[in-house]
Amino acid sequence: MVGVFKWGIQKHESESVSESRHHHRNRVKLLENKKAERELLEADHRVIGQQLDLFSISEDVGAGLVLWHPKGTIIRDVIREFWEREHRRNGYQLVATPHIARERLWRISGHLDYYRRHMYVFKKAGEGYVVKPMNCPFHVQIYKAKPRSYRDLPMRFAEWGTVYRYEPSGTLCGLLRVRGFTQDDAHIFCTEEQVQREVLTLLDFTEKILKSFGFNEYSAVLSTRDPKRHEKYMGSDLKWNQAQEALALALETKAIDYREAEGEAVFYGPKIDLNIVDASGKEWQCTTIQFDFNLPNRFNVCYIGADGCEKEAIMIHRALLGAIERFFAILIEHCGGNFPTWLAPVQVAVLPVSKESTDYARRVCQTMLNAAIRAELDESQATIGYKIRNAEIQKSPYMAIVGRREVETHMIAVRKHRLGDIGSMTIQQLIAQIKQEDKASPCLEDNVNPKNPI
Ligand SMILES: [Zn+2]
Repeated sequence: MVGVFKWGIQKHESESVSESRHHHRNRVKLLENKKAERELLEADHRVIGQQLDLFSISEDVGAGLVLWHPKGTIIRDVIREFWEREHRRNGYQLVATPHIARERLWRISGHLDYYRRHMYVFKKAGEGYVVKPMNCPFHVQIYKAKPRSYRDLPMRFAEWGTVYRYEPSGTLCGLLRVRGFTQDDAHIFCTEEQVQREVLTLLDFTEKILKSFGFNEYSAVLSTRDPKRHEKYMGSDLKWNQAQEALALALETKAIDYREAEGEAVFYGPKIDLNIVDASGKEWQCTTIQFDFNLPNRFNVCYIGADGCEKEAIMIHRALLGAIERFFAILIEHCGGNFPTWLAPVQVAVLPVSKESTDYARRVCQTMLNAAIRAELDESQATIGYKIRNAEIQKSPYMAIVGRREVETHMIAVRKHRLGDIGSMTIQQLIAQIKQEDKASPCLEDNVNPKNPI
């Protein structure tokens, strides 16, 4: 009996222990899930975008069409200025093209036949027009505006080109998948002999640009043609082999991990898709380097060779950041909204402690603005504690706090976001520090002092 009873108790006990353990495990799991969910939600670019007032999408404007707010636009412009400067430095010529074009352009390019369901097509005064889904045919027209010689090549036309593509509403997601977006697009026209060098230089350049945004890890997919079905593809065997070898060799030279996707190339040329890995380990496809043996043929894109004969040019499409909207979403989630100083919409929040220090704070702010530092003055009547908290929530990398002591000594008390107090300095010292962190600053090289690194 006793034994049974004991056994019973033991059973009961062990049951209750295991049950409570089970509950505990479930509860921990639930809490972990909730925590993961909360973290996911907190990291979501749509949530951060709203908190920091960066962008919105309005029902009245339409799904998948992004409105960039002032602070989002600052970041967008900084990225663009940096991008444009780096492109000019690296042998690109910037161009600008219209948002619409006659239907006949898209008929020649083939888009009207193969891509129509994604295109916004309309008629005006009896003539058909298309809102551009791509920039390529425009760049081709610029190339073709006059005869080109082998001496002119390579030619690299780059544009922040805004395009519109119809995507089913179920697939739209924040900034990640939209209907109107801007590509950091470029088209390279070169000779067959220049292909190898172009691709390698391009990969070097891509790496440099992506690293500037804190993306240091990549993987790549090389899409090649199906070796058994050559008839499916446009362009000669020689061109395909040359292009595929150039892409593979460039990836190997740069020691980028890649997978060859045999048979996955589109009919008009092989390509590399570069995936960046963000802070949470997620992979995102951004960069595409795509050969095109179709458009040069359709538009008769030629150059006069050294022998005086006309030859078809090699055309490479490339977007490094991809769609800016999508890249912005990835960037927001990568840094959790804590933009590095060079991208932050407000680099310095100037916070007067009381009314007496407001005049000096105004001068501090203006001196910063004059030095092309993005400074913002908090003139509210709130306490300094509240102002600091607010600047922390807005994730401004620096705060310049000015009270009576700062007014008397002509200094500023500086706080760094997530680091706290970093001491007292002059306005010029803080300006110098920010300029050193500012990749978009045109005199970056001049500012860097290797003896005195930050
Ligand atoms: Zn293109």
